[in-house]
This record gives sequence, C-alpha cells and structure tokens, in this order.
Amino acid sequence: MFIGIDDTDSREGMCTTYLGALLMEELQQYGSILELPILVRLNPTIPYKTRGNACVGINIGTSCPDKVMEHVISRVAAMSAMDCEMTNPGVVFVQDDEAGRVKDTLGTFFQRAVRTVLSIEEAKSIIAETGLRARGFKNGRGLIGALAACGAMLNPGWDHTFEYLAYRQREKWGTPRNVDKESFFIADGVTYPVTWDTVDVSNRLVVCVPHSPDPVLYGIRGRDPDVVKRTAEMIISELPERSCIYCTNQGTDMHLIPVGSISEIKEMRSYIVSGSVSCDPFTIPGGHTIFSISDSSGVSVECAAFEPTKDFRSLVRKLIQGDVVKVYGSFMNKALNIEKIEVVSLAPLVASHNPECPSCGKRMESAGRGQGYRCRKCGTRSSSLVQVQQKRDIEPGMYEVPPCARRHLAKPLVRMQPSRSNIFPSR
Ligand code: ATP
Repeated sequence: MFIGIDDTDSREGMCTTYLGALLMEELQQYGSILELPILVRLNPTIPYKTRGNACVGINIGTSCPDKVMEHVISRVAAMSAMDCEMTNPGVVFVQDDEAGRVKDTLGTFFQRAVRTVLSIEEAKSIIAETGLRARGFKNGRGLIGALAACGAMLNPGWDHTFEYLAYRQREKWGTPRNVDKESFFIADGVTYPVTWDTVDVSNRLVVCVPHSPDPVLYGIRGRDPDVVKRTAEMIISELPERSCIYCTNQGTDMHLIPVGSISEIKEMRSYIVSGSVSCDPFTIPGGHTIFSISDSSGVSVECAAFEPTKDFRSLVRKLIQGDVVKVYGSFMNKALNIEKIEVVSLAPLVASHNPECPSCGKRMESAGRGQGYRCRKCGTRSSSLVQVQQKRDIEPGMYEVPPCARRHLAKPLVRMQPSRSNIFPSR
C-alpha cells in the first residue's frame, strides 16, 4: 500500500517529514516497509507552503490495510498543527490492486504539482473518480500533496537524491540547536561532492541546520544513501531522537520548464529561458541586483539576483547588454528569481579613448565641442575617438547561487560535473 501525506506542519512547529519518520517505525507492527520513504518537493512558488512545500510517501507491504489506514489517519489527526489556519492535512492511500489503474493519472498529477498550480477541487475529484481511500482535514488542501506523493511512488524512475534527516528530542523543540559547527565543515570536507549543501564554505555558514522551531536537527543531502549516513555519523550534536533517510527529488531541477520563448512564461512557475541581456544590471535598495533579457519574440523579462544570493550578485553585475544567457529560476512577482545562469556568449565590451598623438605618443585633448581632438604639444589633430575592445571579467559557463541561497529543488552544479565543462559550482 502506498501512503501519501502532506500539510501537517505550521511555522510554529512540526514537519511532515518527522511524521513520516515516526510512521516508518510505528507501521512496522502492520507489515514491512518495502523501500525508502520519499520526500517530494512540489512547486516552490506555492503561497500556501509552510517552508519547502514537501510531501512524503511510504510504501508498506501489509495484510491488514484497514489497520494501517486507521493508524495513519489517527496519527495525522493527533500530530498535525491543526490550530494553524494554513495547516490543512491530507492523506491518500493506494492499495496494490488499485495501483495499475491510477498509476498514469497520479503520475501526471505529480508532475503538474511540481511545475504548475493545482486546485483542491481537482484533487478531490480525482479521488472521487478513482475511488481511492483518502482523508482531508479542514479544507483538505493537503490532498494535493498527498496525491502527488502517491503519483511519485507509483511512477519511480525520476531523477533523485537522498537526504538523511536527524530529528530532535521532543523536549528540545523550539530551543536553540546544540550542534558543533566545525564538525559539519569537517564532514563536508570528507564527503563533498558526493554530499552537498551541508555547509557554505565561502560564506562560512552551516546550511543544513534549520533555524525554525520544527523537529529537524539537520539534514545531509547527497547522491548515495550510505554516504549521507556516513556523513551524519561525523556530526557532533545533541542526541537526536531519531533519523530517517528519504529518497527525494531535491536537487534535480524537476520544477523547471524549458521554454522556447520568453512570451510563454507565467507567474508561479519555474523556467529555463534563453535571451540576450537587454538592460545592464543595476542594484536597488536592499541589495537586489536586477537586469532584463529579451528574445526574438520581442518580449523582455526582469531577472533578479536577490540579496541573500550574496556573491552571486557580483557575477551577475558583470553582464552587459548583448550577452546571451540561459536563466534558470521561478517567475514570481513579474521577475525571474535566478537559481542558476548559463552565460552562453559574451558581447564585446568596447571602451572609447581620446586618440594618441602619432608624433609624441601623448593622449590628445578635446579641441572643443564638435572640433575633434588636438595634441597640446605638437598641435596634431584627429577627428574621432579610438574604440578599444576590453577584456571581459567573466567567462562563458554555468554559475549558481551559493548553498546558503539554494532552493530545495535546484540541481546543484556539482551534480552536473563532469558531464559538462565550464561549470562553476558554488560551495
Ligand atoms: P509540510 O512540512 O507540512 O509539508 P510545507 O512547507 O511542505 O510543509 P505545506 O504545509 O505542505 O508546506 O503546504 C503546502 C500546501 O500546498 C499543501 O497543502 C499542498 O497540498 C499544497 N500544494 C503543493 N503543491 C501544490 C500545487 N502545485 N498547487 C496547489 N497546491 C499545492
């Protein structure tokens, strides 16, 4: 039986992945867990999300499905932050004999939940039409994520990574986390690039420890389940209550829709879009750096590197009009929020100088408005400025925001090596 769960937490506490980890243990009394649980990130622009728009899925082999459903529903009812208006839990169950029938419908629903905006009504009508067992609490919005989680489990084969999540003892929830920062840097030094985003080396930050009052102590991300576990064993911290390794679509770029033209992009979706820089980058109060790109459709779009992207903004500021780029990011509030950028080709940067005197080699001076240039010493004249091509302080290639500003779904460039050259992972 496949179990999808979503929307159990609030900003004040809880986390759907923690409930998933608890159920991984508790459900063993009813059967055997058949594979790693999944942690699926859905559309990152959804305003209803608490933090990272995650849902979870568990696959259990059981001969008493009714007991499993009863247990899961009672735990979701008891553990969810129901008082929070934004918390609207949902649980969906797909039994073995239903799987073949609903596989494609739920697979498409999963893909759309990652890339587009769906309605609660659509989730409810799929549940009604397919006859799946489900339970929505309050407005039932969590049914969207719960259905998507089932779709992901029924259609494996998507690009995936792993995350080892360590959870805090319950009495510690809401208090500062007791972790030895240096141990994260040491662990990262040993297992990077098989693991990533444990720390941000350039900004000297531990990025895998949340600051919110939820049960997560830390999360180690990587491409190998054994290595994320081994990395976690190197961390020195308060004693975790439990841990769980999830198979996840984090770090895969699954949310990005490749489009052929800027005119196709819509709010609350994420894209890979090409264009040439049509307005030089400028920085606005607050430190956000903005530039525009346009393409042959005649449409242009603003691209933003926000203040939290730190040094990435210095790279963006080096772009000039005419540079051809491919931007990866979400379109929200009329701007593309850059996660990655490929600098495809560079426009020539030309500087104009007063001409040099051919006799003495000194730079000529203006001879007055519209009268060309004149050497003060020799009296030599010239009519026009000299154009000199300058070296650009940036090279074509792929660049990304630093780990401290990374989106869960964004594929880190370290995952693209060594299949491509000219890749500049931020670490
Ligand atoms: P949690 O840890 O509880 O999962 P979260 O940050 O992942 O926290 P949720 O609390 O789950 O966010 O809130 C996201 C809500 O948005 C859920 O109810 C989910 O079903 C819904 N949702 C997810 N993706 C979409 C989508 N593409 N369209 C519409 N609603 C969505």
